[in-house]
Amino acid sequence: MEAKIKNIKDQLDIQLKKCKTVQELNEIKVRFFGKKSELSSLLGKIREISPEKRPIIGKLINDAKQKIGQAINHKKRELEDIAYQTSLEKELLDITMPANVPQIGARHPIYTVQEELEDIFSYLGFEVAEGPDIETEYYNFDALNTPKNHPSRSIRDTFYTKSGALLRTHTSPVQIRIMEKYQPPIKIVAIGRCYRNDKPDASHMPVFHQIEALVVDEGISFADLKGTMDYFVKQMFGVNIRSRFRPHFFPFTEPSAEMDILCVNCKGKGCRVCKGSGWLELGGAGMVDPSVLEEVGYDTEKFTGFAFGFGIDRITMLKYNIPYIRILFQNDLRFLKMHRA
Ligand SMILES: [Zn+2]
Repeated sequence: MEAKIKNIKDQLDIQLKKCKTVQELNEIKVRFFGKKSELSSLLGKIREISPEKRPIIGKLINDAKQKIGQAINHKKRELEDIAYQTSLEKELLDITMPANVPQIGARHPIYTVQEELEDIFSYLGFEVAEGPDIETEYYNFDALNTPKNHPSRSIRDTFYTKSGALLRTHTSPVQIRIMEKYQPPIKIVAIGRCYRNDKPDASHMPVFHQIEALVVDEGISFADLKGTMDYFVKQMFGVNIRSRFRPHFFPFTEPSAEMDILCVNCKGKGCRVCKGSGWLELGGAGMVDPSVLEEVGYDTEKFTGFAFGFGIDRITMLKYNIPYIRILFQNDLRFLKMHRA
């Protein structure tokens, strides 16, 4: 019996010396400790031994078990140390490897242009005003002298909510909200998103950005409008870009005009951008209709005003040579990176 136990221990030593991996070690553990191991069968035979010798043999087997366990655990730690060292060597920092450059955010071209507009008008003494995107019919149409049957009120043109509110179709409601609160002199620009039920095409989207200027004071004339407009165009597009007015009609201004600027692409010669005309339509303008001023309780004998507005998207497209308005809303990272300010 003692010889057998000694033999098991010798066998184990040989096997442990050959063992190279944790997996091999686990196999060894099963072979020497498992139910089918020699040690187990020896324990099974202990009843066959005479009662006097039984405790001695029992102790021998248990000692052997303990020593085998210790030897296996010792080997396990040794193998784990080796595995750890190997992994460290493999993971050694390679400082020549190219780093992952973090993606840096960029300002959208529309907001770059918006800031530029704010700067130009701030210099002229305008304050930037804001209003809600969701408006009532009163602020968007009624207070702006828009007849009840005007086509712009139809659901084909305007988005209404179930509760009867609407998504503002222009920044003009901000004019009313400001004039309700303050007495002249008023000198503001309202900037923001507007919404119209337009089918998307090269120059239309259901959402777009507008800027609108309003001046109300004593003695404000059409000449002030023209002067402000011209200053803005030259600041924004260059000193040789002229502007002009063409008679038009808007419910909230009288007289009203459409504003054109000399084509920024061909400087008036005629090209694809201006469709050969040499001019580009910029937006609408006019003297504030006295009925709008009366609506907010201003003395129309004393005060007059002008207003003009235009699309920021259109200006952004001209400035960055963007062919389709859609590109401004797609958030394509390649486009945004190209125009990183
Ligand atoms: Zn042109």
